[in-house]
Amino acid sequence: MRLGGKVAIVTGAGRGIGRGIAVKLAQEGAKVVVCDMVAENGEGTVRAIAEQGGEAWFQGCNVADDKDVSALFRAVMERYSAIDIVVNNAGINRDGMLHKLTLEQWDQVIRVNLTGTFHCVQEAAKIMRNQNFGRIINIASASWLGNIGQANYAASKAGVVGLTKTAARELAKYNVTVNAICPGFIDTDMTRGVPEKVWDVMVGKIPMGRAGQPEDVANVIAFLASDEAGYVTAEVINVGGGMVL
Ligand code: NAP
Repeated sequence: MRLGGKVAIVTGAGRGIGRGIAVKLAQEGAKVVVCDMVAENGEGTVRAIAEQGGEAWFQGCNVADDKDVSALFRAVMERYSAIDIVVNNAGINRDGMLHKLTLEQWDQVIRVNLTGTFHCVQEAAKIMRNQNFGRIINIASASWLGNIGQANYAASKAGVVGLTKTAARELAKYNVTVNAICPGFIDTDMTRGVPEKVWDVMVGKIPMGRAGQPEDVANVIAFLASDEAGYVTAEVINVGGGMVL
Protein backbone atom coordinates (compact mmCIF):
# COMPACT_ATOMS: atom_id res chain seq x y z
CA MET A 1 0.00 0.00 0.00
CA ARG A 2 2.40 2.66 -1.27
CA LEU A 3 -0.25 5.41 -1.34
CA GLY A 4 -2.02 4.88 1.99
CA GLY A 5 -3.72 8.07 3.21
CA LYS A 6 -3.06 10.00 -0.02
CA VAL A 7 -5.80 11.83 -1.92
CA ALA A 8 -5.74 11.46 -5.71
CA ILE A 9 -7.72 13.07 -8.52
CA VAL A 10 -7.86 11.19 -11.84
CA THR A 11 -9.49 13.01 -14.78
CA GLY A 12 -11.27 11.07 -17.52
CA ALA A 13 -11.52 8.14 -15.11
CA GLY A 14 -14.86 6.78 -16.33
CA ARG A 15 -13.32 4.30 -18.73
CA GLY A 16 -10.13 3.24 -20.52
CA ILE A 17 -6.72 4.16 -19.15
CA GLY A 18 -8.23 6.58 -16.60
CA ARG A 19 -10.32 3.82 -15.02
CA GLY A 20 -7.24 1.57 -14.88
CA ILE A 21 -5.29 4.34 -13.14
CA ALA A 22 -8.06 5.07 -10.63
CA VAL A 23 -8.41 1.38 -9.71
CA LYS A 24 -4.64 0.95 -9.32
CA LEU A 25 -4.19 4.05 -7.13
CA ALA A 26 -7.06 2.84 -4.92
CA GLN A 27 -5.45 -0.63 -4.68
CA GLU A 28 -2.33 1.16 -3.42
CA GLY A 29 -4.39 2.83 -0.66
CA ALA A 30 -5.24 6.24 -2.13
CA LYS A 31 -8.65 7.87 -1.74
CA VAL A 32 -9.56 8.47 -5.37
CA VAL A 33 -11.67 11.27 -6.81
CA VAL A 34 -13.01 9.92 -10.09
CA CYS A 35 -13.55 12.83 -12.49
CA ASP A 36 -15.45 12.39 -15.75
CA MET A 37 -18.18 14.03 -17.80
CA VAL A 38 -20.49 10.98 -17.92
CA ALA A 39 -21.79 10.18 -14.42
CA GLU A 40 -22.75 6.61 -15.33
CA ASN A 41 -19.16 5.79 -16.35
CA GLY A 42 -17.64 7.59 -13.37
CA GLU A 43 -19.98 5.80 -10.96
CA GLY A 44 -18.97 2.51 -12.63
CA THR A 45 -15.33 3.20 -11.72
CA VAL A 46 -16.34 4.11 -8.15
CA ARG A 47 -18.22 0.78 -7.89
CA ALA A 48 -15.22 -1.17 -9.27
CA ILE A 49 -13.02 0.42 -6.59
CA ALA A 50 -15.55 -0.13 -3.79
CA GLU A 51 -15.90 -3.82 -4.73
CA GLN A 52 -12.17 -4.19 -4.03
CA GLY A 53 -12.53 -2.44 -0.66
CA GLY A 54 -11.15 0.92 -1.83
CA GLU A 55 -12.43 4.45 -1.28
CA ALA A 56 -13.58 6.54 -4.25
CA TRP A 57 -15.95 9.35 -5.03
CA PHE A 58 -17.32 10.62 -8.35
CA GLN A 59 -17.22 14.30 -9.28
CA GLY A 60 -18.53 15.39 -12.69
CA CYS A 61 -16.14 17.73 -14.47
CA ASN A 62 -15.37 18.87 -17.99
CA VAL A 63 -11.66 19.66 -17.85
CA ALA A 64 -12.01 22.10 -20.75
CA ASP A 65 -14.16 24.34 -18.54
CA ASP A 66 -12.07 26.32 -16.05
CA LYS A 67 -15.06 26.89 -13.74
CA ASP A 68 -15.75 23.14 -13.59
CA VAL A 69 -12.10 22.47 -12.76
CA SER A 70 -12.03 25.13 -10.01
CA ALA A 71 -15.21 23.62 -8.55
CA LEU A 72 -13.66 20.14 -8.64
CA PHE A 73 -10.53 21.18 -6.73
CA ARG A 74 -12.60 23.24 -4.26
CA ALA A 75 -14.90 20.28 -3.57
CA VAL A 76 -11.98 17.93 -2.98
CA MET A 77 -10.28 20.38 -0.61
CA GLU A 78 -13.54 20.84 1.32
CA ARG A 79 -13.84 17.09 1.72
CA TYR A 80 -10.23 16.01 2.34
CA SER A 81 -8.25 19.24 3.05
CA ALA A 82 -5.42 17.96 0.84
CA ILE A 83 -4.72 16.88 -2.74
CA ASP A 84 -1.58 14.78 -3.04
CA ILE A 85 -1.80 13.30 -6.53
CA VAL A 86 -3.34 14.66 -9.74
CA VAL A 87 -3.37 12.51 -12.87
CA ASN A 88 -4.38 14.48 -15.96
CA ASN A 89 -5.66 11.71 -18.19
CA ALA A 90 -8.79 13.15 -19.86
CA GLY A 91 -8.19 13.33 -23.59
CA ILE A 92 -9.83 13.06 -26.99
CA ASN A 93 -8.78 12.61 -30.60
CA ARG A 94 -10.39 14.04 -33.74
CA ASP A 95 -8.05 12.67 -36.40
CA GLY A 96 -7.73 13.89 -39.98
CA MET A 97 -5.06 14.61 -42.55
CA LEU A 98 -3.65 18.10 -42.22
CA HIS A 99 -5.11 19.38 -45.48
CA LYS A 100 -8.61 18.34 -44.39
CA LEU A 101 -8.47 19.12 -40.67
CA THR A 102 -11.16 21.62 -39.64
CA LEU A 103 -10.61 24.45 -37.21
CA GLU A 104 -13.30 22.84 -35.06
CA GLN A 105 -11.34 19.55 -34.87
CA TRP A 106 -8.21 21.53 -34.00
CA ASP A 107 -9.92 23.60 -31.30
CA GLN A 108 -11.76 20.66 -29.69
CA VAL A 109 -8.58 18.65 -29.20
CA ILE A 110 -6.45 21.57 -27.99
CA ARG A 111 -9.19 22.67 -25.59
CA VAL A 112 -9.51 19.28 -23.87
CA ASN A 113 -6.00 17.83 -24.10
CA LEU A 114 -3.86 20.93 -23.59
CA THR A 115 -6.02 23.68 -22.07
CA GLY A 116 -7.82 21.11 -19.88
CA THR A 117 -4.49 19.83 -18.57
CA PHE A 118 -3.37 23.42 -17.98
CA HIS A 119 -6.49 24.18 -15.88
CA CYS A 120 -5.84 21.15 -13.68
CA VAL A 121 -2.08 21.69 -13.36
CA GLN A 122 -2.70 25.32 -12.37
CA GLU A 123 -5.25 24.40 -9.68
CA ALA A 124 -2.96 21.62 -8.41
CA ALA A 125 0.02 23.99 -8.31
CA LYS A 126 -1.83 26.51 -6.11
CA ILE A 127 -2.65 23.83 -3.55
CA MET A 128 0.54 21.75 -3.70
CA ARG A 129 2.88 24.75 -3.26
CA ASN A 130 1.18 25.45 0.06
CA GLN A 131 1.23 21.78 1.11
CA ASN A 132 4.90 21.46 0.21
CA PHE A 133 4.05 18.12 -1.37
CA GLY A 134 2.52 16.86 -4.57
CA ARG A 135 2.65 14.52 -7.52
CA ILE A 136 1.31 15.67 -10.89
CA ILE A 137 1.30 13.15 -13.72
CA ASN A 138 0.17 14.22 -17.18
CA ILE A 139 -0.82 11.75 -19.87
CA ALA A 140 0.79 12.80 -23.15
CA SER A 141 1.24 10.31 -26.00
CA ALA A 142 3.89 8.72 -28.18
CA SER A 143 2.23 10.82 -30.92
CA TRP A 144 3.77 14.01 -29.50
CA LEU A 145 6.75 13.34 -31.76
CA GLY A 146 4.46 13.54 -34.80
CA ASN A 147 1.98 11.06 -36.28
CA ILE A 148 0.24 11.03 -39.64
CA GLY A 149 -3.38 12.18 -39.37
CA GLN A 150 -2.93 13.59 -35.87
CA ALA A 151 -1.61 17.16 -36.29
CA ASN A 152 -4.06 18.49 -33.69
CA TYR A 153 -3.55 15.59 -31.26
CA ALA A 154 0.26 15.56 -31.63
CA ALA A 155 0.42 19.34 -31.12
CA SER A 156 -1.76 19.09 -28.00
CA LYS A 157 0.42 16.34 -26.53
CA ALA A 158 3.67 18.17 -27.40
CA GLY A 159 2.15 21.10 -25.52
CA VAL A 160 1.50 18.82 -22.54
CA VAL A 161 5.19 17.85 -22.54
CA GLY A 162 6.26 21.52 -22.51
CA LEU A 163 3.75 22.30 -19.76
CA THR A 164 5.01 19.33 -17.74
CA LYS A 165 8.66 20.34 -17.94
CA THR A 166 7.92 23.97 -17.02
CA ALA A 167 5.65 23.06 -14.11
CA ALA A 168 8.29 20.59 -12.88
CA ARG A 169 10.95 23.29 -12.79
CA GLU A 170 8.68 25.86 -11.11
CA LEU A 171 7.41 23.45 -8.46
CA ALA A 172 10.53 21.42 -7.64
CA LYS A 173 11.42 23.60 -4.66
CA TYR A 174 8.01 22.89 -3.15
CA ASN A 175 8.61 19.13 -3.20
CA VAL A 176 6.13 18.73 -6.05
CA THR A 177 7.10 16.44 -8.92
CA VAL A 178 5.59 16.75 -12.39
CA ASN A 179 6.08 14.06 -15.01
CA ALA A 180 4.50 12.98 -18.29
CA ILE A 181 3.67 9.49 -19.48
CA CYS A 182 3.54 8.69 -23.18
CA PRO A 183 1.40 5.60 -23.72
CA GLY A 184 2.06 3.83 -27.01
CA PHE A 185 -0.90 1.83 -28.34
CA ILE A 186 -3.22 0.87 -25.48
CA ASP A 187 -6.37 -1.25 -25.80
CA THR A 188 -9.23 1.20 -25.04
CA ASP A 189 -12.29 2.65 -26.79
CA MET A 190 -9.99 5.28 -28.33
CA THR A 191 -7.89 2.71 -30.19
CA ARG A 192 -10.74 0.21 -30.75
CA GLY A 193 -12.25 2.95 -32.95
CA VAL A 194 -9.67 2.29 -35.69
CA PRO A 195 -10.34 -0.19 -38.56
CA GLU A 196 -9.08 -3.75 -37.94
CA LYS A 197 -6.40 -3.34 -40.62
CA VAL A 198 -4.98 -0.25 -38.88
CA TRP A 199 -5.11 -2.08 -35.54
CA ASP A 200 -2.96 -4.87 -37.01
CA VAL A 201 -0.48 -2.37 -38.50
CA MET A 202 -0.16 -0.58 -35.14
CA VAL A 203 0.36 -3.80 -33.18
CA GLY A 204 2.89 -4.84 -35.84
CA LYS A 205 4.99 -1.81 -34.83
CA ILE A 206 5.22 -2.96 -31.20
CA PRO A 207 8.31 -5.06 -30.40
CA MET A 208 6.44 -6.60 -27.43
CA GLY A 209 3.93 -7.95 -29.98
CA ARG A 210 0.76 -6.77 -28.22
CA ALA A 211 -1.25 -3.65 -27.51
CA GLY A 212 -0.77 -2.33 -23.98
CA GLN A 213 -3.44 -2.63 -21.30
CA PRO A 214 -4.56 0.27 -19.07
CA GLU A 215 -2.82 -1.56 -16.18
CA ASP A 216 0.55 -1.26 -17.98
CA VAL A 217 0.19 2.54 -17.78
CA ALA A 218 -1.34 2.52 -14.29
CA ASN A 219 1.58 0.56 -12.80
CA VAL A 220 4.06 3.26 -13.85
CA ILE A 221 1.79 5.99 -12.51
CA ALA A 222 1.51 4.27 -9.14
CA PHE A 223 5.31 4.40 -8.89
CA LEU A 224 5.51 8.08 -9.94
CA ALA A 225 2.83 8.91 -7.36
CA SER A 226 4.70 7.16 -4.57
CA ASP A 227 7.25 8.52 -2.10
CA GLU A 228 9.87 6.30 -3.79
CA ALA A 229 9.72 8.55 -6.89
CA GLY A 230 10.39 11.77 -4.96
CA TYR A 231 13.53 12.61 -6.97
CA VAL A 232 11.99 11.93 -10.40
CA THR A 233 10.66 15.08 -12.05
CA ALA A 234 10.39 16.73 -15.50
CA GLU A 235 10.58 13.27 -17.10
CA VAL A 236 8.73 11.99 -20.15
CA ILE A 237 8.33 8.24 -19.82
CA ASN A 238 7.24 5.99 -22.68
CA VAL A 239 4.95 3.07 -21.88
CA GLY A 240 4.67 1.45 -25.27
CA GLY A 241 6.24 -1.99 -25.36
CA GLY A 242 9.14 -0.55 -27.35
CA MET A 243 6.93 1.14 -29.97
CA VAL A 244 8.29 4.20 -31.74
CA LEU A 245 5.94 6.00 -34.12
P1 NAP B 1 -10.89 6.83 -23.90
O1 NAP B 1 -11.09 5.36 -23.78
O2 NAP B 1 -11.51 7.55 -25.05
O3 NAP B 1 -11.29 7.53 -22.53
C1 NAP B 1 -11.12 8.91 -22.37
C2 NAP B 1 -11.77 9.34 -21.09
O4 NAP B 1 -11.60 10.77 -20.97
C3 NAP B 1 -13.25 9.07 -21.05
O5 NAP B 1 -13.62 8.63 -19.78
C4 NAP B 1 -13.84 10.43 -21.38
O6 NAP B 1 -15.11 10.65 -20.82
C5 NAP B 1 -12.86 11.35 -20.69
N1 NAP B 1 -12.95 12.71 -21.19
C6 NAP B 1 -12.93 13.13 -22.48
N2 NAP B 1 -13.06 14.45 -22.56
C7 NAP B 1 -13.18 14.90 -21.27
C8 NAP B 1 -13.34 16.16 -20.70
N3 NAP B 1 -13.43 17.27 -21.45
N4 NAP B 1 -13.42 16.27 -19.35
C9 NAP B 1 -13.35 15.18 -18.58
N5 NAP B 1 -13.20 13.92 -19.07
C10 NAP B 1 -13.12 13.80 -20.41
O7 NAP B 1 -9.34 7.15 -24.04
P2 NAP B 1 -8.06 6.38 -23.45
O8 NAP B 1 -7.49 5.56 -24.54
O9 NAP B 1 -8.37 5.77 -22.14
O10 NAP B 1 -7.08 7.64 -23.28
C11 NAP B 1 -6.80 8.23 -22.02
C12 NAP B 1 -5.64 9.20 -22.20
O11 NAP B 1 -4.51 8.52 -22.71
C13 NAP B 1 -5.95 10.33 -23.20
O12 NAP B 1 -5.34 11.52 -22.76
C14 NAP B 1 -5.27 9.84 -24.47
O13 NAP B 1 -4.93 10.91 -25.32
C15 NAP B 1 -4.06 9.15 -23.90
N6 NAP B 1 -3.45 8.15 -24.77
C16 NAP B 1 -4.11 7.02 -25.13
C17 NAP B 1 -3.48 6.09 -25.95
C18 NAP B 1 -4.12 4.81 -26.35
O14 NAP B 1 -3.48 4.04 -27.08
N7 NAP B 1 -5.34 4.50 -25.92
C19 NAP B 1 -2.18 6.32 -26.41
C20 NAP B 1 -1.55 7.49 -26.03
C21 NAP B 1 -2.18 8.39 -25.19
P3 NAP B 1 -16.49 10.40 -21.63
O15 NAP B 1 -16.88 9.03 -21.31
O16 NAP B 1 -17.36 11.46 -21.04
O17 NAP B 1 -16.19 10.64 -23.09
